[in-house]
Amino acid sequence: MAKPVISFQNVSFRYDENQPWVLKNVSFEIHKNEWVAIIGHNGSGKSTIAKLLNGLLFPQKGEIAINGKPINEETVWDIRKEVGMVFQNPDNQFVGATVQDDVAFGMENRGIPREEMEKRIDETLQAVGMGEYRLTEPHRLSGGQKQRVAIASVLAVSPEVLILDEATAMLDPRGREEIMHTVANLQQSKELALITITHDLHEVVQADRVIVMNEGEIWDEGLPREIFSKKDELQKIGLDVPFITALAAELQKNGIALQREPLY
Ligand code: ADP
Repeated sequence: MAKPVISFQNVSFRYDENQPWVLKNVSFEIHKNEWVAIIGHNGSGKSTIAKLLNGLLFPQKGEIAINGKPINEETVWDIRKEVGMVFQNPDNQFVGATVQDDVAFGMENRGIPREEMEKRIDETLQAVGMGEYRLTEPHRLSGGQKQRVAIASVLAVSPEVLILDEATAMLDPRGREEIMHTVANLQQSKELALITITHDLHEVVQADRVIVMNEGEIWDEGLPREIFSKKDELQKIGLDVPFITALAAELQKNGIALQREPLY
């Protein structure tokens, strides 16, 4: 099998040496073209994983590597070019006066030539379904549209890894659906290792693999339907399997596949 894009090896982390470990011996690998959903209740360590992945934090034990390159103080600036992140609050992610200025911003910082920038603005806005909004002022957009522009801005600098950390948490159901649809499309068209972090189990149905975090440890890992079939155990660690999803998992177990796995 090809080399993983992301490798976490026996990673332990605590914010302070007087505080408990918030990640305990966590190991996983993620490959190109793979969509992995990381789920877990609040405080289980999901965001800490995201921050370790782009070098905002460094682990006290273990090793994290991107494309075989370990993340450390020397490599961190290069690594950040490879790892794009989209966060929870759509309003905190805008710097430009128009959508196109915003998408251009990260590229300007990297000295990408004007012509290439134009091309990438077009391509990435098309990829997130926002091609018609190039000249729109960000404050006129809905939450879901803002997050789609945030994704385009990250994609414009061609990362190898895209992480969405609770990127739908502040959106209404329609905005969430927009983002999940966008993510599913991207995964098919871009060569990315994609991580979505969420506490909402609706959002993992389409992922290739699910990592379940609990109290700083990997509690389980598998296909969405394998994870969903453990409804009662999940409930004990604070995760509610949506009724419709549990039903779909149950039907699949009995050989009845739904044509499209329901999102909402
Ligand atoms: P999640 O994303 O799953 O909600 P986090 O990774 O944010 O979990 O948090 C894991 C644990 O680390 C929690 O117990 C949280 O209180 C603690 N924590 C998070 N950020 C900090 C910080 N800056 N300083 C100290 N403890 C923190």
